Amino acid sequence: SAEVKLAVFGRAGVGKSALVVRFLTKRFIWEYDPTLESTYRHQANIDDEVVSMEILDTAGQEDMLQREGHMRWGDGFVIVYDITDRGSFEDVAPLKSLLEEVKKPKNVTLVLVGNKADLEHARQVSTEEGERLAAELSCAFYECSACTGEGCVSEPFHELCREVRRR
Ligand code: GDP
Ligand code: MG
Repeated sequence: SAEVKLAVFGRAGVGKSALVVRFLTKRFIWEYDPTLESTYRHQANIDDEVVSMEILDTAGQEDMLQREGHMRWGDGFVIVYDITDRGSFEDVAPLKSLLEEVKKPKNVTLVLVGNKADLEHARQVSTEEGERLAAELSCAFYECSACTGEGCVSEPFHELCREVRRR
């Protein structure tokens, strides 16, 4: 079976842990220790192939050296921002640049996720802006809610596996 290493990046508080836990357990956990960095193993059948994923949920407060280590480790990346936090959206492009630098000369395989789509009343980043950024970064884009499970239970992770396998 195929082995894929995925790492989840994004500013602290965007919902990285909530998304990973939702994907793995179909449940939402309200409070997850923000300082915790965890790796999970998960198997899924994607397009009739058994894929073994190793998923690294980064804490978002590691130093540069650790962060670059995580980037070197990963085959594919989920970059998450919070649609109610413009600053977290502005973090995305610099993260992609850093990934490119670390992965050079390889291409970076990533998907972009705008989380907390259930908080429409507090939205600061429009869906169109998310789509535009994803087009600039040439990656797939998802808006979802780890809270309600809307739009995000598995598709971003599965699509990332497909793209890593396609490379
Ligand atoms: P991380 O630091 O990126 O791992 O973020 P967490 O997963 O710890 O989530 C940070 C906070 O946002 C927690 O209070 C979560 O309950 C909340 N949260 C995460 N995802 C969602 C979501 O989709 N909707 C809402 N309303 N809250 C969320
Ligand atoms: Mg976390």
